[in-house]
Amino acid sequence: LRRNRGEHEFHQAVREVLETLDPVLERRPELVDARIVERLCEPERQIAFRVPWTDDSGDIHVNRGFRVEFSSVLGPYKGGLRFHPSVNLGIVKFLGFEQIFKNALTGMPIGGGKGGADFDPKGRSDAEIMRFCQSFMTELHRHIGEYTDVPAGDIGVGGREIGYLFGQYRRITNRHESGVLTGKGVTWGGSQARTEATGYGCVLFTAEMLRSRGESLDGQTLAVSGSGNVAIYAIEKAQQLGATVVTCSDSDGYVVDEKGIDLALLKEIKEVRRGRISEYAERRGARFVPGTGVWNVPCDVALPCATQNELTEEDARTLVRNGVKTVAEGANMPTTPEAVRVFQEAGVAFAPGKAANAGGVATSALEMQQNASRDSWTFAYTEERLARIMRHIHDSCYTTAERYGAPGNYVVGANIAGFELVADAMLAQGLI
Ligand code: NDP
Repeated sequence: LRRNRGEHEFHQAVREVLETLDPVLERRPELVDARIVERLCEPERQIAFRVPWTDDSGDIHVNRGFRVEFSSVLGPYKGGLRFHPSVNLGIVKFLGFEQIFKNALTGMPIGGGKGGADFDPKGRSDAEIMRFCQSFMTELHRHIGEYTDVPAGDIGVGGREIGYLFGQYRRITNRHESGVLTGKGVTWGGSQARTEATGYGCVLFTAEMLRSRGESLDGQTLAVSGSGNVAIYAIEKAQQLGATVVTCSDSDGYVVDEKGIDLALLKEIKEVRRGRISEYAERRGARFVPGTGVWNVPCDVALPCATQNELTEEDARTLVRNGVKTVAEGANMPTTPEAVRVFQEAGVAFAPGKAANAGGVATSALEMQQNASRDSWTFAYTEERLARIMRHIHDSCYTTAERYGAPGNYVVGANIAGFELVADAMLAQGLI
């Protein structure tokens, strides 16, 4: 805590993992002797840099960019870039720390990292976004590479931004190094199903949770927060599996759509026009409620897919009162620790993001495989691989929780299963 003053989200993420590791550290004293936990809490490298750019009126702005390279013991650093005004070192470190275990859980050869900038893309023109991305990459290019560090998207960084970033990397290095970024367009090295992967993966994981209790998503009512990349494709897959999604949101408020979200309209507003949920509500003739009350909407399954700490203890109590049975995190750490406790005490099945939202990074690793072999796979094949990976992650969390005396506790299962994979590789590779 002293070494990382003021990094609240990082402290929260580390505490959440450490609280669950006692059983494995007691059973395996060699991990304590090798100081695996202390080593893991310190990033291998962290970079902060200036990002100067000009807006459309010629005014100069200066933002701060970050890349935290946390652990490369299992493979090249891998994790997204976030462009949002709230970004600071503590947030990037929390995301990078989570990413180590998430990436391990996928079973693919990828390490953990994360980056971003305190840049607010909202309301910026395409030309401004391009100039910002070019300036950001002008520094970042020194630190990344297909065998070193492979960034992707996150909040505020989608296909458009990855395109501008990749273009600048290619221009500076004079190399068409496809594997340096993931989330690329499918005609220039991207993977089918990457756009859909995090949302689809979260719902496939939820379906596995239900299957383990002899249930299915068919006929269930879902509440989803957010309306970005993760939320939209979680809604799509949930609808394909027979569920009704009755709400989604953005930072202005949420919509209540009892008939079920009209996905075509949502995509047109959010992906094409880059509009707001209030506009969706107006065009759909549904109720728009300003503010953060999305968890007041009754549901069987809740999928928080917006941002960290968006689901509080009070929200959790409301959800439990309204009959929620299953919660899976599409976003990273959207549920506060107090809210997680409320769910666990009420017997609600709760899946943490490092397990439930790992489908995005897993499909990024599939994109890296395609790039390395100069191949491109079909949507159906890639989606089938994603489904197998999500089943594997679910089963390894489930069986690890049982093995360590906490059956049904996906937090314990995910943390220990991810930690053991990373810790064993660290032991094997010596003191580095
Ligand atoms: P997007 O930028 O596409 O969408 C983010 C959504 O969350 C928007 O609807 C946004 O609303 C909303 N949101 C952001 N901040 C807040 C806030 N403070 N309060 C309320 N709503 C907010 O991002 P993604 O969908 O890609 O990411 C969402 C979450 O999923 C993040 O936690 C991310 O780290 C995680 N994630 C993403 C992956 C991916 O592949 N994209 C992979 C794994 C995890 P508004 O437009 O008003 O800001």
